Amino acid sequence: MRLPWLILLAGFGIACFAQEDYPIQRKKMVETQLKARDIYERATLAAMAKVPREQFVPEEYRMYSYTDGPLPIGEGQTISQPYIVAYMTQTLGLKAHHKVLEVGTGSGYQAAVLAEIVDSVYTIEIVHALGLRSRTLLKSLGYHNVQVKIGDGYHGWKENGPFDAIMVTAGAETIPQPLVDQLKDGGRMIIPLGPHKGVRQLVRLDKKNGKIRKKSLMAVRFVPFTRSDDRP
Ligand code: SAH
Repeated sequence: MRLPWLILLAGFGIACFAQEDYPIQRKKMVETQLKARDIYERATLAAMAKVPREQFVPEEYRMYSYTDGPLPIGEGQTISQPYIVAYMTQTLGLKAHHKVLEVGTGSGYQAAVLAEIVDSVYTIEIVHALGLRSRTLLKSLGYHNVQVKIGDGYHGWKENGPFDAIMVTAGAETIPQPLVDQLKDGGRMIIPLGPHKGVRQLVRLDKKNGKIRKKSLMAVRFVPFTRSDDRP
């Protein structure tokens, strides 16, 4: 009679400990996965230290929220590795007054990180269920400066453009022209580019005097950028 109770109590204790442990794990992630690598920008580090990543991860993977890798979020999609989220954020060179477009809302985590830094974030998700879930979650966490649109991000979000910065978080084969058009002059875009299902290059685009300069940054793996016509 006593042993099952003991086991139950111990289990409860571990569960509570794990919950309380998230802020500690988050701090450790910032130190060991970000600062120890090449993430130095203050606003990015502060945002990564603040956003509760565990809230964006499905319950069954929650205990792995701060591990050094991507995690499944359902619908065959993933939440990116913390380092990649920070790296892409830092690369955009954001200022508080910036207006940012994200394509590929997924869990909403990257949008929350951006929303800690800039005034307004517009994010587009093609998978209906994910878009709805992220919209509700972001609202419940108080991210009122994020607008979530459900649709094909290829077309961008013209009514709210042009944007100071654009981040694409799905691996594309080519750069969507509407996104280039909706980028402000002097603005910057980051996008994983490369062949379908292969390793892609994270590419930075700078728009100056109407011209685009491209720079490859590193090899990455991302879930594919899909189009509305690819979907049943
Ligand atoms: N930024 C997300 C992770 C992105 S995973 C996060 O922080 O969790 C890539 C996401 O892009 C997936 O959710 C996928 O459904 C979405 N996606 C793929 N093609 C898209 C498109 N054309 N328009 C909008 N979203 C797209």
